[in-house]
Amino acid sequence: MALPHLPDSRAAAAALDAHDPLASFRDRFHLPAGVIYLDGNSLGPLPRVARQRLARVIEAEWGDGLIRSWNAAGWIELPQRIGDKLARLIGAQPGEVVVADSTSINLFKVLAGALALRPDRRCIVSERDNFPTDLYIAQGLIELFGNSHTLRLVEADEVCDAIGEDTAVVMLTHVNYRTGRMHDMVSITRHAHACGALAIWDLAHSVGAVPVDLNEAQADFAIGCGYKYLNGGPGAPAFIFVAQRHQADFRQPLAGWLGHAQPFAFEASYRPAQGVARALCGTPPILSLAALECGVDIALEAPMTAVRAKSLALTDLFIALVEQRCAPYGLRLVTPREHDRRGSQVCFAHPDAFPIMQALIARGVIGDFRAPDILRFGFAPLYVRYTDVWDAAHILAEVLSSRVWDRPEFRQRAKVT
Ligand SMILES: *Cc1c(COP(=O)(O)O)cnc(C)c1O
Repeated sequence: MALPHLPDSRAAAAALDAHDPLASFRDRFHLPAGVIYLDGNSLGPLPRVARQRLARVIEAEWGDGLIRSWNAAGWIELPQRIGDKLARLIGAQPGEVVVADSTSINLFKVLAGALALRPDRRCIVSERDNFPTDLYIAQGLIELFGNSHTLRLVEADEVCDAIGEDTAVVMLTHVNYRTGRMHDMVSITRHAHACGALAIWDLAHSVGAVPVDLNEAQADFAIGCGYKYLNGGPGAPAFIFVAQRHQADFRQPLAGWLGHAQPFAFEASYRPAQGVARALCGTPPILSLAALECGVDIALEAPMTAVRAKSLALTDLFIALVEQRCAPYGLRLVTPREHDRRGSQVCFAHPDAFPIMQALIARGVIGDFRAPDILRFGFAPLYVRYTDVWDAAHILAEVLSSRVWDRPEFRQRAKVT
């Protein structure tokens, strides 16, 4: 049986939609007909306003303004301007966040910078099931440093025990990409600091979806993605947070000219800019930044308490419905049931997860597959409805009971899964 506060009919789900305080946000996005989109944690949908914004940037600013637009249209300010807006979504102050590069590249910068702040310590602690790019970046950096450091990988609930006197940096993703499990940022950061280590948080699956308060947690550094719950567009630039108290001492190795104190002095020697601007490297991608700002502006309008409440209600409902209707088919929930340990996604393991997800996508329910055996469903509260959850669970049950997924066409793997 569903929990008492969960709707027990499609009409009851529709009633929840009718009273949803976030309902009007759905119209702000282009969502194709016939699709239930449960993959906004991989690529957020198009904000409608981005079409006009990009048309204006392309025609008026780039077309007519040409190079004058760096000043006249404020292009050069965009990394800071959007960073200051983003700061409000993650509990940071203005001047602590800039938008630049990709999450992977930003991790390289903050990890190198953090290690330099703890020169006597040689260990990076992370989670074995962290997103691979995070682990690869750490491995690449260690190699660059001549293998003077080590990467200690542990299970999610062993992180605190793994932090010791040799730990320079604890590097974690707040919400796990494959399980949706959320770490306790406040207590892990506190423990890291008590051991003399610094904490880097990857917010790729958090920003725009779950409450984040970096300053309350006393986080040292953070990075995150623009194209997931921020709906910034494919390959949208990422962001980088450097706590104010570290900014004067923070040095990062990608010392490009736009992180220089005076880029247009064209000096021969690098001098870092004041503040978080030193995290910048090269010329920002203006078209992508303009699109990202549209997504960030929408996220800023939505009260996080309502976003979180709806996210938990949607994920609770999906778990309950799938467990009710799909019980015989061998799905195993890998997302925590406890609210305070859950992000905004629900994941089930199944040995045939890949063809099942392909069959679901063919029926218009778009989630994704994560190797080796995970069906992943992201619930973005700004546009996913209770009725979508109802219908998605129903379609999943049909796909499983009919075994339609067991056709050769659903086993063909494309490059991106
Ligand atoms: C999505 C994601 C990334 C993506 O990094 P890119 O450099 O944008 O490709 C990094 N880390 C985590 C935890 C992610 O979920």
